[in-house]
Amino acid sequence: MHEMGITQGILDASFEAAEAAGAKRIIDIRISVGELTEVVDFALQFAFEALTPGTLAEGATLTVNHVSARSHCNACGEDYEHDRFQMVCPRCDGFDVSLLQGRELQIDSIETEDDVEDDVPSPETAQE
Ligand SMILES: [Zn+2]
Repeated sequence: MHEMGITQGILDASFEAAEAAGAKRIIDIRISVGELTEVVDFALQFAFEALTPGTLAEGATLTVNHVSARSHCNACGEDYEHDRFQMVCPRCDGFDVSLLQGRELQIDSIETEDDVEDDVPSPETAQE
């Protein structure tokens, strides 16, 4: 299941960003996933739940923004949405097309919380 590796990559980048920002906890991670990546949503969620316990992102939510595939026809100039099986231009049936979007796999934003600091000496290692 390659979603496990993808999710690990997303988490690694998120931890880095959260630590750089001095955040103690990640609440929500928003990502954009293009339709052509063939990443399965539920597998991402499954991997996220399997990988986050004991980390900064424990209890966080993973919000997935699906990006539909769009291409530009170099023959007639049409921009159109399509699925992964139909890339041919619907207007002129041309094959000379350039993909505009649909292969995204990126982090859009990370929501963190940094105000959980209190008298507990090491919140990072505290067990709940
Ligand atoms: Zn066309």
